[in-house]
Amino acid sequence: MQFPRLLALVFVIACTCLYFATAFAAPTCPNAHPVQPDWKFCEICGARIVPPDAAEGRIVQMKAYAASRDCDNLGRVATIDHATRLARANGIRQQAGRELGAGLTSEARKAITLLGTIHADRYIQHCRVGKAVYKNGVAQVWIAANVRASLLRRHLRVGLQLAPSVVVVIDETMDGASVNAPQMQPAVTSALLSSGCRLFPIRDNQVSRWQGFVAPVLSGNVRAVVDEYVRSSFDVIVVGEAAASFSQNNQGIISYRANGTFCAVDAEMGEILLTKQISEVRGFGKSRHQAGRAALASLAGQMAAYVGPAVSGRDSDATQLRIIADGIGGPEHWDAIVQQLHNISAITQLDNATCTSGTASVSCLSKVPALALSLLVNDIKGLRVTDYTQESIRIQASQ
Ligand SMILES: [Zn+2]
Repeated sequence: MQFPRLLALVFVIACTCLYFATAFAAPTCPNAHPVQPDWKFCEICGARIVPPDAAEGRIVQMKAYAASRDCDNLGRVATIDHATRLARANGIRQQAGRELGAGLTSEARKAITLLGTIHADRYIQHCRVGKAVYKNGVAQVWIAANVRASLLRRHLRVGLQLAPSVVVVIDETMDGASVNAPQMQPAVTSALLSSGCRLFPIRDNQVSRWQGFVAPVLSGNVRAVVDEYVRSSFDVIVVGEAAASFSQNNQGIISYRANGTFCAVDAEMGEILLTKQISEVRGFGKSRHQAGRAALASLAGQMAAYVGPAVSGRDSDATQLRIIADGIGGPEHWDAIVQQLHNISAITQLDNATCTSGTASVSCLSKVPALALSLLVNDIKGLRVTDYTQESIRIQASQ
């Protein structure tokens, strides 16, 4: 009868170990390597350790212009100061447009305007007024500024749940030689497109440079990708190697075997989203060429099935947010505001509405992140979003 007691003891020891392991868990990189507190990048794989919001990332120089007129539709008087603020917002708008590329949705346009208006300070690192003129009731300002492009891009992408922009680089060989009409690249590309990703365009003269990422990434080193992220605006890179080789000739029926290794990496953090090895995929044909192509086509189909969900399938769950009205008009119109929030379909739950003197707030569960919800709230007549964070949205009301 010693056995159950021994088991209980083992259980207690195991629980204690687990407790201490959790309590003192060593910090790790996004790819689960243990890291030292002073590392900014993992020295094993090169992934980023500092949160992207804290890292400076890509800084872009831009020039912008704005004019402010006397007695615009809000009855303001033109000032150099007001024109400068407009110019900063314009500069952020320009850069955001460049980050997101052509074909912006109206939601993205609104987000850009909102970010430029309420968060210019977050994205502008350094601003110099080049020329400022006030004449006949018009203030005109030209500025030169540095914009935190990576941060802006990240906020827009996460906030609007935009499709990631993906680079695909796959080496494909048959009996050791490059194939003329590759099948992996198009199969993986079309799988990514149909799962909602966008393709990052690679210029013809850049192909060999991007091919340089394949070997290091497949061997687990992502540092080059993280460095490249600072220069180019792509979100994910998919690299791979696929090789078909002769297997046998069985009375005129030739068979080939194909093997492939693939890896998808989040470019911003260096987090490995997918590694996949697919081995011994067979292809048959009457010629070596036919059999090799059949094996590679079959491998391409298998790989395509994995890559789409791994790269695009990062839907976030409902977010807990707090909507706060502590400015003009908010607390006075609080009941009406909460009523209007009920009409936003992205909000699945509203509770703990409180209204004390000067401040009113309500918790909500949102299907979309804070920035996207800010846009929906900002669309409500009489409400204006003045700030937002990951956890909260601040509003003013003017009913
Ligand atoms: Zn690592």
